Amino acid sequence: MPELPEVEITARLLDRALDGARIEYARAPGINALKTFEPPLASLEGEPVAAVARRGKHLIVRAGAELALLIHLMSAGRLQLYDKPAGPRDRSSRLLLGLDDGRELRLREFGSKQAAWVKLLRAHALAEDHALASLGAEAWPDPGSAQQLRELLDAPRPLHSLLRDQHVIAGIGRSWVDEILWRARLSPYKRGADLEAGEAERLREAIVHTLGGAVEHYRRTVALPIPDKLPMPLLVHRHQDEPCPRCGATLQAVHFEDYVIAYCPACQTEGRVLKDRRLSRLLR
Ligand SMILES: [Zn+2]
Repeated sequence: MPELPEVEITARLLDRALDGARIEYARAPGINALKTFEPPLASLEGEPVAAVARRGKHLIVRAGAELALLIHLMSAGRLQLYDKPAGPRDRSSRLLLGLDDGRELRLREFGSKQAAWVKLLRAHALAEDHALASLGAEAWPDPGSAQQLRELLDAPRPLHSLLRDQHVIAGIGRSWVDEILWRARLSPYKRGADLEAGEAERLREAIVHTLGGAVEHYRRTVALPIPDKLPMPLLVHRHQDEPCPRCGATLQAVHFEDYVIAYCPACQTEGRVLKDRRLSRLLR
């Protein structure tokens, strides 16, 4: 599940590795992935890669002065740089960019769903594209002051949902939100509108240090190509039934159809164990 730290390390490593490399061919074997027709993909050919950057959970690959690829990895995509082109058996690639030095940049996707997408845009149209224009403030490196964060989250919705809402704050998803709320000692179900000044300060600190710590971890441990399976340094998410790394209480989970909230009842919910929806469904 690539979120801000995973996309950030991808952008950083590729930016360095691709600097100035010329694109020889561009293909989109995953017919569903490319969401634009104009400009045509072939217009990338001959252009040098100018920069690779991140905005929220999106990757932006700039080519020459005029073109930009906007890429969303969704839940199972990777943008990977290889020394050689993919063979004919390659089934996971959605986009291929061949470089003049023989390397190949591939947008690959694992699992059965095709959800990762790419748009090829004119550079001047990038900022106005709905995917970027609708994003909230960047979660990292600076989510704003505690007071700004409080205003941002001032809604009658649970923090867990607000922090994952890319229109509110950009970059946080289902994995890192659990880590952030645990670090801030806040209940996932606390309403944003009820956030007090001291809590907002803790939340700000938790966002900056949790995401920053993950980026730093990847900087030390990850090299190109970004591995198919990138182990995430998570302490709480997917660790339900294990002891809380801070207080030793057993971490609990609430299961939803497509995600799980993990939390420490002692650190976050004043000892209360939140209703497990999966369990209540089974017992019905
Ligand atoms: Zn705890």
